[in-house]
Amino acid sequence: MKEEEIESMRKIFSQLKDKIEPLSQSPAIQALQKRVMEIRKEAIKNNSQLLETVQNSFKENDIDCFLASNDIEAQKIILDLINEEIESNPNIDSNDVYICKSKSNTLREIGFLELMEENNYNVIETDLGDRILQLKKEDNDPVHPTGPASHLTVSDIADIVNQSMDLNLNPVPKEIMEAVRSDVLNLMHKSYIGISGSNSIAAEDGAILMVHNEGNISFVQSKKLHIIVAGIDKLVPHLEDSVSIAKLETAYATGKPLTSYMNIVSGPSKTADIEKKLLKNMYGAERVAVILLDNGRSKAIDECLWCIGCGNCIVSCPVYNIIGNKFGYSSYLGGRGIALSRYLKDNEVSVDSGLYMCTLCGMCTENCPVLTPTYEIIENLRCDSQKEGLFRNQHKSIRDNIKNKGSPY
Ligand code: SF4
Repeated sequence: MKEEEIESMRKIFSQLKDKIEPLSQSPAIQALQKRVMEIRKEAIKNNSQLLETVQNSFKENDIDCFLASNDIEAQKIILDLINEEIESNPNIDSNDVYICKSKSNTLREIGFLELMEENNYNVIETDLGDRILQLKKEDNDPVHPTGPASHLTVSDIADIVNQSMDLNLNPVPKEIMEAVRSDVLNLMHKSYIGISGSNSIAAEDGAILMVHNEGNISFVQSKKLHIIVAGIDKLVPHLEDSVSIAKLETAYATGKPLTSYMNIVSGPSKTADIEKKLLKNMYGAERVAVILLDNGRSKAIDECLWCIGCGNCIVSCPVYNIIGNKFGYSSYLGGRGIALSRYLKDNEVSVDSGLYMCTLCGMCTENCPVLTPTYEIIENLRCDSQKEGLFRNQHKSIRDNIKNKGSPY
């Protein structure tokens, strides 16, 4: 990230902090926080049981469910689903396939965009921030889970949109929003396939909850085929648990008590209004397919999976505020992302993502709604990495000096 981008990000983070802090002190949010901590702890502890339950519930709800043990398997399932849809849908031109996508860390984790590029499929990012980053083309990693383009000023964004869409917009937020919206809507009309992540999945109910402000997920889920990719850590027992998590996540991500939309999908779109004959694909998806991704999660320590994805840990992280999104792994930003990368990949990736950059100050835990003990996890992972010979040369010479001379110097 450029210095001026980090500066802009810090400004946005400071405004965010001013909104989140008072809300997080309210008795209602504190009660919700206690409830969600319990939900997350129990859900992660009972993850394998919930995984069994959800597969049965999805079956009952006519949702296709696939288990992917890693990113490669998830990619294959996605490609198969898309190709089946292309083959069975005469409206799709196989040389010009469009897929509407909403924001998802999990899709980034499995390399979805790269996969689509390799297969010459067009992906339309439907979230405004993500679409701006998609148009930016280079150096376009997100900086916050819900505000991916928080590091760009309105002038930067106007330049990006003008260049990529050949327009002459003024640096005015509304003008930019309207231009991107009309372009995305035009492209979305060409699409029969939507893909999204999920904020939480209710195993007993067989229901997937997705949170958004823009209304874009309503378009994505209305395509003929709706694919949802989610980590197995998103499972909780009941829909009420999912709603509680979504409310707390919103409060800690945006400083607002609720988002504009919470979409719940618990089956394909259907009607039986004509002689009680069951017909699918009235207004929404004819086929809903969920891919539950392990990718190392089942080997992770419980604490690393409590996260509800609000991003508040990076807002207060001193390292992230200095170096930006290079501190983290993929879309999993900051210390918690580094810790997770140990399980999604290995110790080496976790070291490369910034394991030794963390100051262990504990600000992330203090500001985390589920009190993820990130700095403790990081300290333990450093011990593991040392044993594998993964340490900085400077650290090695300090260690050797202490050992040999009784002093670090
Ligand atoms: S670790 Fe905590 S603060 Fe960070 S994203 Fe997850 S829930 Fe939010």
